[in-house]
Amino acid sequence: MPVKGIVFYLASEIPPEVLFLLKDFRLAVNEAIRAGLQARVTSRNALTKLAYKDFRRGHPLMYSQHLVSSFEVAASVLKNHRRRTRYGATRAPYVKRLMMKAENQAYVLDRETGVIDLPIRAGCHVQLKLVVSRYHRRYLDDESLSLGSLTLLPDRVIIAFKKESVKTFAPESALSLDTNERSLDGVFVNGYSASPVKAEFPDVAMIQQRHHDRRKRLQKKKAHDRRTSRHLCRREGKREHDRIQYRLHQVADSVLSFAETKRSAIVLEDLKGIRHKKNKDVNRRLSMWPRRKLHQIIEYKAEWRGIPVVKVDPRYSSRTCPICGRIQDSRMGSEFRCECGWHTDRHINASLNLLQTAITKGLEVAGGLRFDPGAFQHDVMMTLYEPAMAARSEPNGTSCIGEAA
Ligand SMILES: [Zn+2]
Repeated sequence: MPVKGIVFYLASEIPPEVLFLLKDFRLAVNEAIRAGLQARVTSRNALTKLAYKDFRRGHPLMYSQHLVSSFEVAASVLKNHRRRTRYGATRAPYVKRLMMKAENQAYVLDRETGVIDLPIRAGCHVQLKLVVSRYHRRYLDDESLSLGSLTLLPDRVIIAFKKESVKTFAPESALSLDTNERSLDGVFVNGYSASPVKAEFPDVAMIQQRHHDRRKRLQKKKAHDRRTSRHLCRREGKREHDRIQYRLHQVADSVLSFAETKRSAIVLEDLKGIRHKKNKDVNRRLSMWPRRKLHQIIEYKAEWRGIPVVKVDPRYSSRTCPICGRIQDSRMGSEFRCECGWHTDRHINASLNLLQTAITKGLEVAGGLRFDPGAFQHDVMMTLYEPAMAARSEPNGTSCIGEAA
């Protein structure tokens, strides 16, 4: 069942009793983490069994559902910690920021007025008024969406909206995309016709590079003061993260709107297990994170909108000829050339191979797809996204972004 977290800001400052609840919740989470580490358990059930009675005594005023939910948060922290220890991290985890989570039985949201009723302890409830914009109204007024958990932070809440049943449409065409550092490159195949498509996000790599350089400089300059250096780096990291994330969402939205209007299945490479491509200059290596993140965003938004996504193993996709099947020995320049005469942009070539893998793996498109190299329109590049579009909310005449649904 697809779930989407929507952020709401509080209309007024957080009441002191809620702030107290947040602190108490954090305390409970950290105690549960410690108990879990000691007893070497990580599941919520095991934690509940282990510590519920003690906790009931230690936090006599806390609403019992919140207490159970603190075990849930602790369990997820412990799970992450256990995964990290496999890679050598050892420091015991704890939750630093103020937060609490409540399952949907533990709060009431009036979807008309945007007021949350949150129980604090027996007989004591608190009302939180949310700022509701038109964007929020879309989710609040949609009766097909049910409410999931609530995450409360000092200035905002995140409410999970769940869609009961989404019908994924039967694709009538395919949009196959090869994911690169600065762009998604691929083909849009519709029956017999195929055209190259591109969604460019060069600024993501630029932001990464700039922050990478700045971080290095900071580390050097503040070498004598590790604490300040760490603090500054972390602040840099957060800013970088937010800006990249914003851009990735825009790219994903454009791709999905296009796929929705054209009734396309989206084909992506499975990035799992892919490390950096070989690059001599270690400093110029950019992390895989934005590309993985972009896939994640595309996948969950596609699920929400009912757009089919197929992920395939990208092995040999950049070295195989989609026409005759020959595998080239090594990478070439920006163009893929084969003895059989086929040649095209390297990234587009890779996306053709991804599409073929998807079809052999069972991707079915109504009416079928036939890729005919003769019909491939090399010169008609469709632009799904380019940075200039960021400034514009309306699609312009020359590009083909689908209208936002
Ligand atoms: Zn060939």
